Amino acid sequence: MILETVRLRNCLVLLSLTWLWSNALLPLPTSKPLLCGVPFSLAGGASLSDIALSKGDGFSGAALAKGRVASRGKSAKRMGNTVGDAASPDLATMQKQALQCYMQRNYVEAAKLFAECVKKKPRDASLQYYLGTAALYADDIDTAEHALCRVVVMTSPESDWNKLALKTLTDWKRQFHSIKPYSQLENGELMRWDKSKGPIKVWIADGLQLPPGYVGPELTVEKCRTLYSLFDKPGFFEHLSRVEHYVPTYADIVRAGINDWAWVAAEGIIKYEFVDDPRKADVLYFWCPQSGADSVGRTYYPWTGVSRPRAIVHVETDYLRKWGARAPSELRQTSAHEFGHVLGLQQHSPALDDVMAGKGKTISWRECAQYSAASPVNRNDFVTLRALYELPPDVLFETLGSK
Ligand SMILES: [Zn+2]
Repeated sequence: MILETVRLRNCLVLLSLTWLWSNALLPLPTSKPLLCGVPFSLAGGASLSDIALSKGDGFSGAALAKGRVASRGKSAKRMGNTVGDAASPDLATMQKQALQCYMQRNYVEAAKLFAECVKKKPRDASLQYYLGTAALYADDIDTAEHALCRVVVMTSPESDWNKLALKTLTDWKRQFHSIKPYSQLENGELMRWDKSKGPIKVWIADGLQLPPGYVGPELTVEKCRTLYSLFDKPGFFEHLSRVEHYVPTYADIVRAGINDWAWVAAEGIIKYEFVDDPRKADVLYFWCPQSGADSVGRTYYPWTGVSRPRAIVHVETDYLRKWGARAPSELRQTSAHEFGHVLGLQQHSPALDDVMAGKGKTISWRECAQYSAASPVNRNDFVTLRALYELPPDVLFETLGSK
């Protein structure tokens, strides 16, 4: 019975691939020998998603995204193209062998070969997708889950590979426990921290705000560069003023929101720790009365290529004052959401229950109580972050301690 289901699914996948090929105006498999590597002929070996990835490599600019209860800015610069090597003869041969095994329904061998291909070219969505489906049919659900999540994370939501991977995860939701990862591609780029360079050090200001000219909407992405050198000036932090409407417990609540990611850190994806000295911090949380527009939190990614860059997070106190008794749960959710951005999750999730949800949701008082008792970081957020850290990024942030 299970085998029948697998075969039926295989037909559906092949139909989908045929649709992809025809949409790409490429020869259908029937017009030439089936095992000629047609799926890999797009853009000389690149997948659909890689076509976008190959465009340009300048600054990604000062894009701001509106959040559910938060938004963030970024100030990242591409450090180098890590998208993957051009198809080597070895890779091309291996792809053909892998596809041959796949077509012969030797999924165990196909999965092994696709896994080798993926090592050589991890940002190829087509290779990752084939690895995912081959592993799925070989009943290696864990490998399939990782690979399909990587496809979704590395491609845009409009990409056919993204849709196919999500459809496979949905069709097999019992095996995959209904996970729904979300894309992290922005302007064709993935970005994250270098997890080999030690834990990210986080400092939370106890009610302090940045100097005039840098508070709330005054803090532009460009101004962050100036801040890095100010942080290193003697007495800078000692002379900061206290923001209005600050409640002494807020710093602890922000810490709790960050620690909602602790179970992710325990998985070895990325580690962080809190520090008392802001001069040693890679990530600094400050307060402001209003952060501008309709956002209540904003994360600024560190510039790369400059001296001692830091990530900066702004949290708005006026918004919390208006929430009254619900301020603690809102602050915790905002803190967790912003720390997701800090970790490299640039894009919001379309699912309202994910901590990285981008749009507001009306919640009842009962739901609010439930939220405050549990981590808002759910499995969708987890598998998305995990996939991001399994892939080579376009922009890599290094901690201060590693320099
Ligand atoms: Zn956001």
